[in-house]
Amino acid sequence: MLGTGTMGAPMARNLRAAGLEVRAWNRTRAKAEPLIDDGITIADTPAEAARGAGALITMLADGDAVAAAMGGSDGALAAMPEASTWIQMSTVGIGATEELAASAAECGVAFVDAPVLGTKEPAEQGQLLVLGSGPQGQRERCRPIFDAVGATTRWLGEAGAGNRMKIVLNGWLLSLTEALAETIALAEALGVDPTEFLETIDGGPVGAPYAQLKGRAMIDRSFEPSFPLRLALKDAELVGEAALRKELELPLLRIVADQLARAAELGHGDEDMAATYWATAAPANEPLGEPGHYGGRGAAEVRRSRATR
Ligand code: NAP
Repeated sequence: MLGTGTMGAPMARNLRAAGLEVRAWNRTRAKAEPLIDDGITIADTPAEAARGAGALITMLADGDAVAAAMGGSDGALAAMPEASTWIQMSTVGIGATEELAASAAECGVAFVDAPVLGTKEPAEQGQLLVLGSGPQGQRERCRPIFDAVGATTRWLGEAGAGNRMKIVLNGWLLSLTEALAETIALAEALGVDPTEFLETIDGGPVGAPYAQLKGRAMIDRSFEPSFPLRLALKDAELVGEAALRKELELPLLRIVADQLARAAELGHGDEDMAATYWATAAPANEPLGEPGHYGGRGAAEVRRSRATR
């Protein structure tokens, strides 16, 4: 396993708990060391983690991070046995997936593209949804791994189909989150209790469990990272890259990316993606208005948070 961040660490634990032998590498070794207590061996280099392994999982931030860990003399590709399988589970987008698949082919290693849906808690509970794609003959080898980290696996076709589906899903959920941020901000500005808004849509055709989850976080200004905003921004950029490849104009998703970038500039990159709320609640360089029915919390808090940054 290369990468023991928010997702990689619990996935490694679940693999070990399922009885698989696991060697893990992380760029910052100290972050991987707690896994020793779970019976996981920590490797000093990606090559050391990969040597002799039947399957290697990458769960790293982005395409550049994956390429860095796989390439070079200490990289995993140089050490992977010939008939081994590289299971690439990071969200890296379409272009990077093509490049990574090509580098696997050059080394005679099978490549499975299998990003996941689900955040920190589903990862801890082994309840991720795996979007598997790759050679038919690799499915059996992947099965115990995917069963250990996920509740469901959807096989989608040849390698690349997983990251393409992930792009589509991200376009949907990033738009939903941004729409929610604006809706909560609008409710607050109009003196409509945003909790009543959530209760009104709950369970109905225009409701979504995701809206309850992220909407509550926005109302409570509770942005403990489940999916960090900086990675949501990376995903929004990957959606943009995918659309550009097909010369498809997606104005809504361009705005979503701008809002995420703005929230990151305001200092919320390491908070949960729901913190995109702050980009809406803080019009650029403009007076933020008078406190409203809810104590003007959005505007006043933005003023305070700006003052302290
Ligand atoms: P994370 O907690 O930020 O961990 C990122 C990992 O990438 C860490 O191991 C980090 O190492 C490593 N890394 C970053 N840059 C690197 C580089 N240049 N070279 C080598 N290693 C590098 O991220 P995460 O939440 O686990 O996400 C991992 C992947 O899963 C991402 O592609 C993300 O989009 C995707 N994903 C995340 C979620 C989620 O809810 N978190 C859900 C679905 C999919 P250090 O520890 O040294 O920084």
